[in-house]
This record gives sequence, structure tokens and C-alpha cells, in this order.
Amino acid sequence: MKIGLLALQGDYEKHRQLLCQLDLEPVLLRYPEQLNDVSGLIIPGGESTTMSKLIDASGFRQPLLDFAQHSPILGTCAGLIILGKLLHDDSHINTLNIMDVSVTRNAYGRQLDSFVTNLPVNFGKGQEMISATFIRAPRINTIGPNVEVLARYNHEPVAVRQGLHIGLTFHPELDGVTLFHQLAFASNSNA
Ligand code: GLN
Repeated sequence: MKIGLLALQGDYEKHRQLLCQLDLEPVLLRYPEQLNDVSGLIIPGGESTTMSKLIDASGFRQPLLDFAQHSPILGTCAGLIILGKLLHDDSHINTLNIMDVSVTRNAYGRQLDSFVTNLPVNFGKGQEMISATFIRAPRINTIGPNVEVLARYNHEPVAVRQGLHIGLTFHPELDGVTLFHQLAFASNSNA
């Protein structure tokens, strides 16, 4: 199964390694037409302002919206910002509004710009403890009625699922956590 990595900007390389571990075939996407050849997509962490500009400049916006109608997308950190919407109007960022979550960028205080913690993740019938690395992470402020919370940090959602799509405020690829890639792309573990 081929999984695309939106490779316009950001930390897609570590995701590529995780996909290989799961016997999923990573494909670096630089042109919208390439979406036709993959069954799922990762929007990685990075810089959401730059990423949103590149999405428009390279003609990815509408093809991504169309892809989201039928295929799973996993967004991590900046990738989640792109999938959701911003709570405060930030005219530099035109998000995709694919997931019904509103976020605030860089929402943890300065000392906490980056941190690692352990989190229990609840999915269907399973629970797994993971290590989660937050890097200048966004905060999820509101979620819509169809959004399921998979994990919380300090009572706030940090991992969410809506239909086919999963959004994370942290970076599972940095800790070698494959759970979300499995939940998003390997349908038999989609408990
Ligand atoms: N702070 C970045 C942004 O707002 C996200 C950081 C990340 O992806 N690690 O776009």
C-alpha cells in the first residue's frame, strides 16, 4: 500500500522510516497529480505558514480537499493545523478545514515550547501508553461533535480522529511510535 508524504516542507523523513517499518510504501509528494497514486497521506510537522503558502502555490488545495473525501490523512503538529482551522484569525495561514477542530498555534508557554511526556492513547477496544514529543505545539481549543479524542494531555485533546482522519499536536515519528500510522492506514488494526 502506497502512502503519500506531503513533501513541500517539514519533517517528512522520519515518517518515511516509520512507514517502511510497517511495510507501507512511502511516496514523497511534490505535485498534486501524485495524490492519484496513493491510498493515504501524511501532512508532517513543520511551519504551517510556509506549508499553507506552498499548498496554494503548488496547486495542492483542491486536490487535497478531494482526496480527503475518500482517503485517510494523518496530520502531525503543523499538519494538524493545516487539517483544522485556527481559533484566532491568522491571515497568513489558509487552513484546509478538513477536520472540525480549532487550534491555537505555538500555544504552550516559552519554557514549555518543547517537551516530552507519556500519554495513554485510547482507540476502540485498545489502550496503549506512548511517548509524545511536543515541539512548539498547537493546542486544540474546540472539537466538533464528530471528533473522537484518542489522547489528552492535561485534560486537553492532543490526538483526535474524525472519520478517516487523525490529527496530532505532537510528533509520534520522533519517538518511533507507529500506533497512529497503523490506525490511519492499516485498516485491520482500526479497532
Ligand atoms: N509551530 C509550528 C506552526 O505553528 C508547528 C510546529 C511543528 O510542526 N512542530 O506551524
